[in-house]
Amino acid sequence: MKAIAVEVGKPDSLALEERDEPSVGGGLLVEAVAVGICGTDHEIIEGGHGAPPQGRTKLVLGHESVGRVVEAPVGCAFAPGDLVAGIVRRPDPEPCACCAEGRWDMCLNGRYVERGIKELDGYASERYVLEPAFAVGVPEELGHTGVLVEPTSIVAKAWRRIDAFAGINCLSIATVLVTGAGPIGLLAALLARRRDLEVHVLDLVEGGPKPQLVAQLGATYHSTLESCPSTDVVIESTAAPALIPRVIARTRRNSVVCLTGVSAHATEEIDVGALDRELVLENEIVFGSVNAAREDYESAVENLVAGDTAWLEAVIRRRVPLDRWREAYERRDDDVKTVILF
Ligand code: BGC
Repeated sequence: MKAIAVEVGKPDSLALEERDEPSVGGGLLVEAVAVGICGTDHEIIEGGHGAPPQGRTKLVLGHESVGRVVEAPVGCAFAPGDLVAGIVRRPDPEPCACCAEGRWDMCLNGRYVERGIKELDGYASERYVLEPAFAVGVPEELGHTGVLVEPTSIVAKAWRRIDAFAGINCLSIATVLVTGAGPIGLLAALLARRRDLEVHVLDLVEGGPKPQLVAQLGATYHSTLESCPSTDVVIESTAAPALIPRVIARTRRNSVVCLTGVSAHATEEIDVGALDRELVLENEIVFGSVNAAREDYESAVENLVAGDTAWLEAVIRRRVPLDRWREAYERRDDDVKTVILF
């Protein structure tokens, strides 16, 4: 069978390879339907992130997945024909206090592994095995847009934590600024609109599909920070070092700012004193959020099913068949989410 693999740390080593069929063991045998591509995949391909399975040099990519069950162990919650999304992270082997409670997304010792990213092959192969405990049921109506379950789980977790911090901060959330109108930003805005909040989305581009995707959610699009109002909550998805301190400086008292992007290694000089005064005197919370727990995947499914199918399909701007897989990893103007169809 075919799989998309990269030699980790070696730029331009991405290739479509012939691999042995997976051995099923006690897992689900899944046939890939679609795999999504995100910034993390590009970073792995460029040699800046990721690790191969122990004793190997190559890693099969793909952490945003939707696939169809072909074989399922007797008595498990899934049956042949079901659509499933694979959870990305697996708990560390120790396990730490968080992993022991199934909160692998909060792993304390960093020894977790991640499919398609860190020491475990991903889902970008024609068939793969998924442990039932790490499979999430995807309703048939989502079809290949089920590939958005994983990125939506990232923002579902962000929102879960924002709610907890808002409670601590005596903050009643009415307004939200989302910076970046890529898939994470758009999905964060989708979840905010599902709560009927006033949502503003900032992105650099003035044309292309993003302003329309934002407007279709009933949110307001901005292409300059100056035109954005100060809000109760900010979800930052650009990871742009020059933008982050400026965004924090514009928030309201008691606000909660969630950082979801991973910056490249560029640095930016910031006035730490001014930042300190603002955070302290205005009781502000700035926090980072990565990965997701099972409950966040389940919340992602609920939110996607309740969303507008046409909008979800429009977020997936490019669908590339496996035989033209290389095109899927080219960056193009007006890209939002690109997926490979198997
Ligand atoms: C994935 C997360 C993962 C993170 C860090 C993101 O692209 O969506 O599941 O934890 O990368 O590896």
